[in-house]
Amino acid sequence: MEYIDYRTEGIVFDIQRFSIHDGPGIRTIVFQKGCPLLCKWCCNPESQDVRPTVLFNADSCVHCGKCLGVCKFGALSTGNTALVDRGACRSCGECVNACPTGALVMKGKAIAVGELVRELKKDAITFRRSGGGVTISGGEPLVQAEFLLELLKACKEQGWHTAMETTGLARESVIERVFPWVDLVLLDIKAIAPDIHKANTGVSNEIILENSIAISNIAPTVVRVPTIPGVNSTISEYRAICSHVKSMNGVDTIHILPYHTYGVNKYGLIGKEYPLTEVPPLTKDEIANLKKLVEDEGFKCVIGG
Ligand code: SF4
Ligand code: SF4
Repeated sequence: MEYIDYRTEGIVFDIQRFSIHDGPGIRTIVFQKGCPLLCKWCCNPESQDVRPTVLFNADSCVHCGKCLGVCKFGALSTGNTALVDRGACRSCGECVNACPTGALVMKGKAIAVGELVRELKKDAITFRRSGGGVTISGGEPLVQAEFLLELLKACKEQGWHTAMETTGLARESVIERVFPWVDLVLLDIKAIAPDIHKANTGVSNEIILENSIAISNIAPTVVRVPTIPGVNSTISEYRAICSHVKSMNGVDTIHILPYHTYGVNKYGLIGKEYPLTEVPPLTKDEIANLKKLVEDEGFKCVIGG
């Protein structure tokens, strides 16, 4: 039997129950912190930093000043419109404890695999009855690879189905260790053209595309394409994506994830501006045309999660 280190700690920022979109059956989603990409359309910007992140809601602040005196790292000042200097913050949580109105909230906390599995066991009956399981999301789960690996092993020890949402960006050795424990990979491919990928995610897609093939050789994989007007919603880019997916092993389904703006309000809470402005949603016709293209290329096509 595989040794599992239940003491391994990771930073998790949310656990969502009763999801029916991210794998088979009814699922519980564990959201890990940290991502090597900075996608301009990211709907979880609070997940990008691997450390716990202080959210500041200016509308709830009554300017009492109680937070200002407790920061030992000089990260809080009234001269800073976003209140928190993200570069100086050490995620100690003292300001969150001092705030009487809930204007400051910590997103993310350290949790050991053993404690997390105890939490997930509350859903074990639902998993069994619905054919569901645990989906690990983020951020990019591969950023906290040791925690991820122990968590996946622990889920399999319980007999649970495991799914993982991923960008596929990690060292080869990490890919080889992690994915044998994943029953279903939900792999994002954002662009094939290197310049489009780099300009909109901040990183090259060379390793991602290499890894996508390696991942599909290890675990059943579905490809998902966050589809952003003006970025990757063109016929040529979609053709290139389909062509790449054909080089992967056994992928028969591509999900089109139409652009949405659900995460826009979160940017203000972490002192950032939303990088995309005036991007219209995809029209029904545009979605229908991309779906037809995907199907004509020989794939099943699903709209959404
Ligand atoms: S979390 Fe700690 S370090 Fe960060 S701003 Fe608050 S008190 Fe300062
Ligand atoms: S403690 Fe809370 S309410 Fe008071 S100034 Fe700081 S953020 Fe605003």
